[in-house]
Amino acid sequence: MKTVSCLSAMLIVGSMFSGCSDQSRETLEQRSNRVTRAEMESIAELLGHDLYEGRAPGTRGGDLSEIYLRSIFKFMDLEPGVDGSYFQPFVMKGFSNNGVTLTANETELKYIDDVVGTFTVEEESVDFDREAVFVGFGITTEIWDWDDYKNMDVANKIVITRVNDPGMYNADIFEGGTLTYFGRWTYHIEEAARRGAAGVLLIHTDQSAGYDWNVVKNSWTGEELYIKSDLQNSLKFRGWIKESSLRKLLDVQHISLDELYEGSHSVDFQPIELGFNINIAGENSYRDVTNRNVVAEIPGRTEERIVLSAHIDHLGLDPLKEGDNIYNGAIDNGTAVGAMMVVAKVLKEFQEELHYSVTILGCNAEESGLLGSKYYAQNTDRSNIIANINFESTPVWGASKSLMGIGARFSDFEEMIKDLAQQNRLEYSSFSLSNQGLFYRSDQFSFARYGIPSVWISAGEDELSGDKNYTEFWGKDYHTVRDEFDPEWELEGMKQTIQYVLLLIDQINKTKSPPELKIDLPFPMEE
Ligand SMILES: [Zn+2]
Repeated sequence: MKTVSCLSAMLIVGSMFSGCSDQSRETLEQRSNRVTRAEMESIAELLGHDLYEGRAPGTRGGDLSEIYLRSIFKFMDLEPGVDGSYFQPFVMKGFSNNGVTLTANETELKYIDDVVGTFTVEEESVDFDREAVFVGFGITTEIWDWDDYKNMDVANKIVITRVNDPGMYNADIFEGGTLTYFGRWTYHIEEAARRGAAGVLLIHTDQSAGYDWNVVKNSWTGEELYIKSDLQNSLKFRGWIKESSLRKLLDVQHISLDELYEGSHSVDFQPIELGFNINIAGENSYRDVTNRNVVAEIPGRTEERIVLSAHIDHLGLDPLKEGDNIYNGAIDNGTAVGAMMVVAKVLKEFQEELHYSVTILGCNAEESGLLGSKYYAQNTDRSNIIANINFESTPVWGASKSLMGIGARFSDFEEMIKDLAQQNRLEYSSFSLSNQGLFYRSDQFSFARYGIPSVWISAGEDELSGDKNYTEFWGKDYHTVRDEFDPEWELEGMKQTIQYVLLLIDQINKTKSPPELKIDLPFPMEE
């Protein structure tokens, strides 16, 4: 019908009028309502396919996902995003081992059951024996006026540290139950590394880590990847120890872990030399792993740009696992890449209306510690980036009552998303999993560390139906082989995510007022 009326208009007006598109041109909002299931699911379907083998960086499946995204960029007529190329290669050091032997007090702990970890030195055989020091939460920061290390020199020692932060046990300090940057396991390792420790053992409990031992095990038994700037220290080993296994070691010395914990809740805590050595040994292999961020550009009228990001990698496959051993990562992060690409597709259709340019960043090695986005942020002209909008594990279930912006509270993104929610009769929500530190766990954080307003945006977890599929995903299927593509997904939450990101970008373009930071950021900045 539409074709006929369009055609007749053309016949009447002829070449003086360039078709009926100007009159009947739909708005970006109308276009966003027309997003189809096929558009939304196709990328997640492919990236989540078994043949992609879980897309670990430096593997066949990982390489395929890079090539696939580049092909789509070309097909969509997007411009190369890095020095005339769609690829931004970077080299990482990959370390793997078949097991770790940890012995102390004549007790040998079992690899996988008690302890997991990575040797991060270029030595084929690692074997070292060092004094053990308990450092409480291992946090030193002026932001919260807290210093667990005091004057203790932990150089060449093995640091045993709790994860999470003291706010977990005292609502009045740090951010209470909301996990801060200083509660993340990555920080505890960074701090021990800065102080010259030889090894670091993170104490695992379900509660303090925010996930069970299986998640730790799955994330730490494959190849671990690092970029050079993260290896400039003398840490030979970084790993996790189960709390119950640590108790076994301490029992021999009649040391009460609960008493150690008790002391660590106080700002006056002093690190404690445990009076015994820990031996850590194992065979180690290492190699250079090259992988690529995949980057495209949709130029607007100015060079100032909004960076859209979604990581393309996932955990790969586990050759030792019986049965299904592929970590497909269909939701983490297939649907998010899919959502980002639908947004890119629509923005390309509306390119002439773009005031700001838009960068589409398919970042890599996110699961290894946000490495791709970190590398991108380190090595791009940041002066023209006005904001970062990140897509992560985009929900695929029923429509939600709300819209959420993780990290929005640090900038005007919060008001923008609140307004958007209100105009569309939605609520503004924050994720109930605030104890998980999600802001620090996906690529928006790499931008935030340079003071760039950034947000992870998504339909909220509260579905109209009352279901809580998204919350359950994080508890049940996240980082397991069950994160698989399902043709039965309703995709309403994904559609909402796409629509509201489009409207948000549209609004930033129309008002020409990018979000600004509104509070002092509660984490250390990169220079
Ligand atoms: Zn993810």
